[in-house]
Amino acid sequence: MNTVASEPIVSFEGITKQYATATAVEELTFSVQEGEFFTLVGPSGCGKTTTLRLLGGFESPSEGVVRLHGEDVSGAPPESRDIGVVFQNYALFPHMTVAENVAYGLKFQEPPGNVSKSERVTELLSLVGLDGFEERDPTALSGGQRQRVAIARALAPGPDLLLLDEPMSALDARLRERLRVEIQALQEELGITTVYVTHDQEEALAVSDRVAVMQDGQVEQVGTPRAVYHEPATRFVAEFIGDNNVFSGTVTDTAGDTLTVDLETTDVTVETSRDISPRDDVVFCVRPEQFSLESGVNQLATTVQSSEFLGWTTRLHLDWHEQELLVRADTELDETVTVSFDPTDAHLVTGGH
Ligand code: ATP
Repeated sequence: MNTVASEPIVSFEGITKQYATATAVEELTFSVQEGEFFTLVGPSGCGKTTTLRLLGGFESPSEGVVRLHGEDVSGAPPESRDIGVVFQNYALFPHMTVAENVAYGLKFQEPPGNVSKSERVTELLSLVGLDGFEERDPTALSGGQRQRVAIARALAPGPDLLLLDEPMSALDARLRERLRVEIQALQEELGITTVYVTHDQEEALAVSDRVAVMQDGQVEQVGTPRAVYHEPATRFVAEFIGDNNVFSGTVTDTAGDTLTVDLETTDVTVETSRDISPRDDVVFCVRPEQFSLESGVNQLATTVQSSEFLGWTTRLHLDWHEQELLVRADTELDETVTVSFDPTDAHLVTGGH
């Protein structure tokens, strides 16, 4: 990530978008810093595209203020915003060559710097790794190449903000992984502030400086990939980001930062810096990689349901009193296994302060 400026390039202040039949987003507040790769991630229908459309000026908010560089642009049209946009379906013009498609991005704007439009097109195609593709027909390109042309077109006028809405949703898994590395490298090279939309949590963790996890039109948590993974702020984030094991129970005893939690079938101990009292209900999570197959403090006797060999690890699906636990292992296992977790590896998501 580039240096963080004190004034955010984007800020959403209490944004609500109400349609006749639905509230698409509600009281959204977040900001994006200059040079950041910022990702909106969440399940289908949570309001990601609406948020991006509000940012691009394709929609105006029912309530709240959208600011770009501190200026209120809530009602301003897209062409006044200096933003490049790439949507999921590439939207290249099939009757134009690759060069003409990229040049279309310069239809209403002169290229930045002292270069001609055709020089700018060549420069952009080279940037996205498509040197020499100028005269190709878009129909003669692969999905990944088409999407790179769409990115070149969005970047042609030299916008200071790039919006990408599920740009890889039409591509197969391997190509997505390759293109996401390329997009990230390109973003770093240009230092362009980027707001990216995806429903794929793994993709969000892989490419972003920070992510906003959304559900039901609201932002549940904004943080670095590591923060949302290791310190989910809500149960939803804990369950949505990565594999996770979520437990609910009642605190029966506290000793300093150590809680005894009654999980109905077993008592376990959990460490937290939160302010918790006996009889509080708590929810905590333990990641699959934090379970040990050695005996330890918190032991759970389970039955092996199935195992998935993933190459670099094996994911076990274990049954513990009718709750499924996901645990990583690197060995074959028998029908039953006792797993344990360290009290410091449990992360409290609700309960206390
Ligand atoms: P997906 O990942 O499926 O694209 P999303 O997270 O981008 O979903 P949005 O497209 O922003 O979600 O939609 C959020 C909610 O707003 C949904 O319930 C959707 O049905 C509703 N919605 C979006 N656009 C409109 C519209 N023009 N009129 C009415 N409701 C809308």
